[in-house]
Amino acid sequence: TEFDIVKFSEEITEDMQLISKQNQQIIYQHTGTSATVNLDQSLLRNAIINLISNAIKYSGENTFIEFNTEITPALVTVCIKDNGIGIPKEDQKHLFEAFFRAHNTGTIPGTGLGLNIVSRYIKLMDGQVKFTSNVNQGTSFTLSFPKQP
Ligand code: ATP
Ligand code: MG
Repeated sequence: TEFDIVKFSEEITEDMQLISKQNQQIIYQHTGTSATVNLDQSLLRNAIINLISNAIKYSGENTFIEFNTEITPALVTVCIKDNGIGIPKEDQKHLFEAFFRAHNTGTIPGTGLGLNIVSRYIKLMDGQVKFTSNVNQGTSFTLSFPKQP
């Protein structure tokens, strides 16, 4: 069903801001002429919450997290970017495997299931997920979906 991705994303941002660390700022921005999308709202919400939770968990206090949505005639794009611990290159190819955790997580808790679930939800929505990451610099995840008429 159709919904307004800006209103939807602003609500998520507000909720996630409440569970962020001290002085972690989540900055949401939308670009594109329209704001109406036709996607599974609960799958998309769950995927975004998973990615923002990771961004919060794997970055420090006094950092910012960028959350962007974009609508073009062909695509809906969602991007979540942090300035956190990053993911070592040799771990990146395993990232979507169930129970996989990178080697630089130290004492940060987790089960390694979040991204596996995200990737399955994105597939159910006919979308794609891509990421880039550099250790001690940060990580960004980009989701893209065909724009339904
Ligand atoms: P949970 O099941 O609670 O989400 P998790 O966060 O460990 O546990 P995933 O969300 O699946 O599991 O992430 C898998 C691994 O990928 C993490 O353990 C971490 O090593 C790495 N990772 C994921 N997102 C980030 C990020 N934004 N910055 C740095 N590392 C990340
Ligand atoms: Mg996680």
